[in-house]
Amino acid sequence: MSGGVSAAGPDLDEVVELTRDLVRIDTSNPPGRETPAARHLLAYMEEAGAECELAGPDPERLNLIARVRGSGEGPSLMLMGHTDVVPAPREGWSVDPFEGVIRDGRIYGRGVADMKGELAARAVAVARLARSGRIPAGDVVLVAESDEERNVSDAGMPWLVREREDLRCDYALNEGGGELLRLPGGRSVVTIGIGEKLVSSARVRVRGAGGHASIPAGADNPLRGAAEITRRLLDHEMPVRVVPGVARALESLGAPDPAGDEFAAWAAAQHQLLGGLLPAMVRSTVTPTGLEAGEPPNVIPLHADVICDCRLLPGSTEQDLRDLVAEAVGDDVAYELELLEPLAGGTESPTDTPLFEACAAFARERIPGVEILPFISPGFSDSYWVRREWDTVAYGFAPVFSTDPVTYHEGFHAADECIDTADLVTMTDLAEHAIAALVG
Ligand SMILES: [Zn+2]
Repeated sequence: MSGGVSAAGPDLDEVVELTRDLVRIDTSNPPGRETPAARHLLAYMEEAGAECELAGPDPERLNLIARVRGSGEGPSLMLMGHTDVVPAPREGWSVDPFEGVIRDGRIYGRGVADMKGELAARAVAVARLARSGRIPAGDVVLVAESDEERNVSDAGMPWLVREREDLRCDYALNEGGGELLRLPGGRSVVTIGIGEKLVSSARVRVRGAGGHASIPAGADNPLRGAAEITRRLLDHEMPVRVVPGVARALESLGAPDPAGDEFAAWAAAQHQLLGGLLPAMVRSTVTPTGLEAGEPPNVIPLHADVICDCRLLPGSTEQDLRDLVAEAVGDDVAYELELLEPLAGGTESPTDTPLFEACAAFARERIPGVEILPFISPGFSDSYWVRREWDTVAYGFAPVFSTDPVTYHEGFHAADECIDTADLVTMTDLAEHAIAALVG
C-alpha cells in the first residue's frame, strides 16, 4: 500500500495541478481537438522518464501512450483515461468551466469528474513508477485516448485496438466505478464496473391503411397499435438474469429475489443511486422514447413508429431483443422491428482476478467493513474495446470516497461538475496500489 490519506502536501499538489492543467485545455467534443491535452501529458510523462509517443489517424485528435517497460515476468497493466469532455454551455455554472477553480477542498470544472481528474491520477501514478527506476514484472502503459464521449470519429480507442496490437495489456483500469455508497444501518458499498450492456435503438413500426381524418370511422389507424405497443412495453416486466459476480454481491447485501416485486423498492431504500441502477443491472430493457408518424394533422398515416432505447445484458443477441419485444407486445398487434444501429457493447470481465482483488482490497483497507458491488453499466465506456478486441480484463474503478456520490454523478455532463481534491489523491493511491499488486 502506498501513499497516505493526507489532504495536503506534495501528493495533492501534483495530481491537482495536473488535473487543472488538463481542465484548462478545452477538449469539448465535438470537435474534441484533444492533441494539446495529449501533448501536455506527453511532456509530463517524458520528464518522469516514461517511453512516450503520440498516435492516431487525426493530427488534431492524437492519443498519448506512455510506457514503463517491465521485465516480462508478470502481466501487463493499462491505465486508461479519455482526454475529451462533453461541451460546457455556461448556463448554470457558478465558475468558469475551463479554469479549474478550487473552492472548499473541491475542484470545479468540465471534466474533473468525467474524467480528467481520474486520468491525472493515473498519470501521476505511472510517472512515479517511471521516476523510481523500478522495473515492474510487466509493462505498465498509460493510454490517454481521444473521442470517447461521441465515439464516432474512429480516432481514439477503436483505432488503437485495431492498429496498435502492440499496446495490448492483460489488465486495464478505466472509468465507471469506485463510488462509495452509504446504506442504511451503517453499511456501505463500493462499486467496481465489470461490464456494460449492449446498446442500440430500435424502430417498431405499425402499418395501417391511411385515409382522411375527416371520416375516421372504420379507418385502419396505426396509432392505435403504436399506442398499445408503447403501453405494453412500458408495463412489461423484462425477465431477470443476474450475472454470477453481481448475484453474490446482492446476496451479501441481503437483497430480496431480484425477480420478485420487492426488489426495486429495496434497491431504492438502500441508496438513491441504486434505485435506478440495480433494477437495470439484472434485466435487459426496451424503453419507448419516441413516437413518430410524420403526416399532416388531417391525414391518418400509413404507419406509426415507436422508437425504443434498447439495453441488453451481456451475452444477448439481436434475436434476444426480438424475443423480448415479442413477449412484451404479444401476438395480437402486428409490427415490424428494425434496429436503427447495430448492437454495441455487452462485454464483461470475470471477478476472480488479481486486479479485481487489488481494487477490492484497497477499498476494504480504506473503508473498513465495506461490501464490494460489481456492476454492469447501462452505458458505454472504452473498456468495451479492450475487452472485445484484446480479451483484456478491464474494470471501471477510481475511488470516490470523499465526494458525495449524488453530487459527483449530477456533475457528469452537467453544470458545476466537481470532485473533492482528496479523491484525486485516493485515485492516485489506488493506481499505485494496483501497479504494485499486479506488476510489482
Ligand atoms: Zn467518461
